[in-house]
Formats: sequence, structure tokens, C-alpha cells
Amino acid sequence: MIRFDDVTKTYMRGQHPAVENLDIEFSRGEFVFLVGASGSGKSTLMRMVLKEVAPTRGTVYVAGKDLSRLPSWKVPSLRRDIGMVFQDFRLLPSKTAYQNIEFALAVIGTPRKVVRRLVPEMLEMVGLEDKGKRMPHELSGGEQQRVAIARAYVNRPSILLADEPTGNLDPSTASGILDLLAEINERGTTVVMATHDRSAVDRMQRRVVEMVGGQVVRDEERGSYETPAPVSVISGNLPDDSAHREEHPLDEDGLVADWDGAPDPEAPVSGAASAERLDDQPDEHAIAEDILEEDLIDEREARRARDEDPFAADDEENLR
Ligand code: ADP
Ligand code: MG
Repeated sequence: MIRFDDVTKTYMRGQHPAVENLDIEFSRGEFVFLVGASGSGKSTLMRMVLKEVAPTRGTVYVAGKDLSRLPSWKVPSLRRDIGMVFQDFRLLPSKTAYQNIEFALAVIGTPRKVVRRLVPEMLEMVGLEDKGKRMPHELSGGEQQRVAIARAYVNRPSILLADEPTGNLDPSTASGILDLLAEINERGTTVVMATHDRSAVDRMQRRVVEMVGGQVVRDEERGSYETPAPVSVISGNLPDDSAHREEHPLDEDGLVADWDGAPDPEAPVSGAASAERLDDQPDEHAIAEDILEEDLIDEREARRARDEDPFAADDEENLR
């Protein structure tokens, strides 16, 4: 679904790359946590999937397509098939909750009748069926994020990118947001969530990709926020490069700030999770994605048509 092939992104010449030699794949239907201190490259990775940022070197593939070869007129269709949720919600402040969701449908020319059905369904899915008329400032942070998720999901994207979606929320509110993202994932959307939310990662036990200074230092199938494995920065496997560390002042979460440079004596000696991960990715999969040169739109249509999509039948009805 998403593949980075030896991707490096350097924003400014002479600066340490924001993302360096990234080789990673996110499969269809996966739920992936991206963890790592501020400045470790999580947002850059996501922005490359949206083609908001172009790699300096290497190739990003989304649904088998090399994004560097995607013509600019196709970029809107790429972005339509990728929902995005941010830490600061980014709702349109002068529109109601209902209108914020409606807007995402209107811009792609969705028939009014479909809009009138989908928006209430989305509000209900996120538990805000009675708050459609509220303005963003009349909603709590958690409620605003629910609206933002409804807006990101209303077009049934294949991929949902959530960049620290619970970063501004208290723990119990955050936990509800996480449940919502898990539900969206269960409905078939690939979810990639950058987070500092330790309890979210530990509770879900999903794939965890940890970044340090633009590089993946850990990739675990069913991970926790921290690991004793030596591939993790927490256990001391940080590149011994103090200049580099200064360039990436590590943040309040203290992932690296608290690190004293001493390897954890309790840590097992081996267990390179990232190597294991590569081993269990069959090659056929990557090849299949390249051969399947289907358009993102076609893919979405195909998904709509499948039984698991509750809107599929209704959409047909509306066309008649
Ligand atoms: P994260 O999301 O993990 O906090 P980012 O991807 O935002 O990390 O940033 C990675 C590195 O790239 C940081 O050193 C950051 O300062 C730098 N960076 C991010 N965006 C830009 C930009 N638009 N211009 C220059 N440098 C940037
Ligand atoms: Mg970020």
C-alpha cells in the first residue's frame, strides 16, 4: 500500500536529513504506530505519502504508484484517497461540525442526496449525532478531533494518516479517539499514526516503527512504546554521534534526552526486530503491488463494491 525505497529527505543543503535511507513498507489494512522524539522525521514521512514533500533521493510508492511519476493533475485524487488527521484538528472555524464534514464531500462533487445521508452517518459513527450544529469553538478538543476524523474518513480513504492525533487530549479522551481509529482500521483502511501516546501504543499492541534522527531503529510486529531490544534508542543503540544529537534536540518526552548512553544490561544481546520484519515480508507482495497498476480511484470503487462497505449498496441506489 505504501512503500519507501531507500528514501532520504534533506530540507536544506548541509542539514542532517529529516529522513534518511528509509526502507519500509506498510501493507494494506495495517495499523502502524510511528514513534520517536520530535524532529525524528515522522511528519516528513507522512507528508511524503501525500506528495506534499518530495524525497531528495529514493522512491515513495502508494498503491503501487511511484509518486515522483504521478502527474500533478493526479495529486488531488491521491489526496482524496488519503485521510489526514492532525494534532490541532484543523477544522474550518466558521463552519459547523456538519458543514466541516459536508465540505470534504462537496469539494469532490458528491451529489447532495449522498451528502445528506453520509454526513449524519459520519456524525453518528463518531458519537456526535446531536452536535452537528455546533461550531468548532463550541466543541471540546476530543469532539473537535472526532469531527476531524469524520471529515477525514467520509470519503472512505484507503489510507488514514494521523499525526499525533491525541497530542492535545487528556488520556480518557485520547483513548476514545484511538478506539475510533481502530474501528476505521477494522473497516479496511490502512492507518498510520504518529504518536507520543505511550498508553495508546501499549494498549493496542500493533506494529510499532520507531524513528531516531530520520532513521528507523525499530520495527516490531506487535510492539510497545518502548522495547528492551538493542535496536531501540531506549536501550542504547543510538548512533554514537553527538553533533547529530544536538542537531535534533530531543524533546520533552525524553526518549533520547533521558538516555544516558549506557546500554541496558538487562537487554537481550540479539533480536534485531527490523531485520526480522524484512524477512517476513514476502517479495511477491512488493511485486504484486507494482504489477497492480490500478488507479487509486478504481481501488476505492472496488472497495465500495465489496460487502464490507455498508455504503456500497446505497451508492448504487443513488445512481438510479
Ligand atoms: P517529527 O514529526 O518526528 O517531529 P519532522 O518530520 O517534523 O519530525 O522533522 C524532522 C526534521 O526535519 C527536523 O529536524 C525538522 O526541523 C526538519 N524539518 C521539518 N520540516 C522542515 C521544513 N519544512 N524545512 C526545514 N526543515 C524541516
Ligand atoms: Mg511531527
